[in-house]
Amino acid sequence: MSEHSHTGASSGGSISDGPADPEHDSTAAYGLDRAYVASLTRRVVSTTGETAAVASPIGRTPLAHVPQSSPADVAEAFARARRAQASWAATSIDDRAAALLRLHDLLLDRQDELIDLVVWESGKARKDAYLEVAHLALTARYYARTAHEHLDSVRVGGMFPLLTRAEVNRVPKGVVGIISPWNYPLSMALCDGMPALLAGNAVVAKPDAQTMLTALLAAQLLDEAGFPPELWQVVAGPGPEVGGAIVAHADYVCFTGSTATGRKIAQGCADRLIGCSLELGGKNPMLVLRDADVQRAAEGATRAVFSNAGQLCVSMERLFVADQVYDRFVDAFVSRTQAMTLGASHEWSVDMGSLISQAQLDTVTAHVEDAVAKGAHVLTGGRHRPDLGPFVFEPTILEGVSADMECFGKETFGPVVSIYRFHSEDEAVDRANDGQYGLNASIWTRDAARGRAIARRIKCGTVNVNEAYGATFGSLGAPMGGMRESGMGRRQGAEGILRYTESQSVATQRLMPIAPMFGMSEETNAKVMTAALRVLNKLGRA
Ligand code: NAD
Repeated sequence: MSEHSHTGASSGGSISDGPADPEHDSTAAYGLDRAYVASLTRRVVSTTGETAAVASPIGRTPLAHVPQSSPADVAEAFARARRAQASWAATSIDDRAAALLRLHDLLLDRQDELIDLVVWESGKARKDAYLEVAHLALTARYYARTAHEHLDSVRVGGMFPLLTRAEVNRVPKGVVGIISPWNYPLSMALCDGMPALLAGNAVVAKPDAQTMLTALLAAQLLDEAGFPPELWQVVAGPGPEVGGAIVAHADYVCFTGSTATGRKIAQGCADRLIGCSLELGGKNPMLVLRDADVQRAAEGATRAVFSNAGQLCVSMERLFVADQVYDRFVDAFVSRTQAMTLGASHEWSVDMGSLISQAQLDTVTAHVEDAVAKGAHVLTGGRHRPDLGPFVFEPTILEGVSADMECFGKETFGPVVSIYRFHSEDEAVDRANDGQYGLNASIWTRDAARGRAIARRIKCGTVNVNEAYGATFGSLGAPMGGMRESGMGRRQGAEGILRYTESQSVATQRLMPIAPMFGMSEETNAKVMTAALRVLNKLGRA
């Protein structure tokens, strides 16, 4: 059992059958200290008097009653954020970057508390929760250290050399609305917000209802790092109502979630003529080429498929394996999968944790049952494991999946992968590109250059060669996002911060106007201009 000194958590390893609410059932006990929870939830902007109960996937342990926000509360959150943004935008880039670096250190210092809370709310394996901390630390450092590169005003060539001075400023959008999902509750709460703040914006965040406490602790760390408290507002409530109010007030919306919801967000933003970035779903392919190191690929596949119990936008749900190595790969992958430790607990020893909810369990179960009923074979897994936790489902490998099955083209978002044999690499590329998604792909080969050449033919926003997803996700200078119905816009890299700015061009003219001079006729002026244009082209000017 890990230390819970920060959260005051009771023993998280014990599994009870719940659901029980200590408000109404004297035998039930909260998993977290009440005062600790209150110190987090007081940050929600809420005047409704209503709360929503949150229970952990670990034994359905009750965790909190989270205050709910009305559309009027969302409007108030935007008003507060807007006031704070005006003075924040006037601070120096260096001051903002320094706050981000303090946040970096706080994240690392307080990682046990953060991980405990993430595990309580999501039921994920502790190692998966740690990766959220690491991802945020990487993000904070990358943007703090590259702030000037992205945000400084840039001189560009003016219309006339020496006469026209032109520069491009980066102006913050204003107040950014961030709507985030439950699957990486810590990482998704902050990773898109950091560049927004650095660029001089304020944020109103609407995290998913199931993982509010983690998002609220993240907001508290922002305060402790020295960001003005009013700069980051948190609202809570059902997606359509509270998320809809975010779209109604924001100057820009950053959304991460399902493709279906992303479409609605895009429609709302189109009506208001505001921009948005959409990080959506995927049905990600992994290709094991004939020259792959089979053991390495099999080990990578367990991470590619079962990290976070498959509730990961960039995890793999389709595995295409070359004929020549198919049998060896499948043996190695199945035996490594069977050796995984499952559980719903705070232990570091868990390889794969719980699904987050009954809804997730229902989808995963339905996809597996549908595939089996239509003739797919379960090579390993395939069963719900209530003995380990209410929503634990075994890591599952399916063979013989066909286009009539739910799990063929639809995102399962769980620990289920379909494995297919291929005979030529052209065929593998075609099948990988099949469907409407285009988020992430993974290619395994001993010839990295060949892997990179094949990557260029895959219609995905990120492609990892000899890794699952971590290589692109952890390379913060590289943009991350989806092609096709997997998204619009990118997080990370220059695009991840410039999306929160408007470019503003300022050009200053001196000595001569851009008009005929000295009583010159328009006709003569056109001749002079034409001669000047020819000279500039000869000089090789842009
Ligand atoms: P979801 O779309 O149901 O919910 C995501 C967020 O949107 C939640 O905060 C929810 O409350 C809110 N929401 C729901 N309906 C809304 C509406 N009508 N208007 C405004 N907001 C609304 O997604 P989910 O099921 O919670 O998350 C899983 C999905 O997210 C998967 O498809 C996964 O692939 C995707 N995802 C993508 C990325 C990425 O970076 N591409 C990362 C994580 C998750």
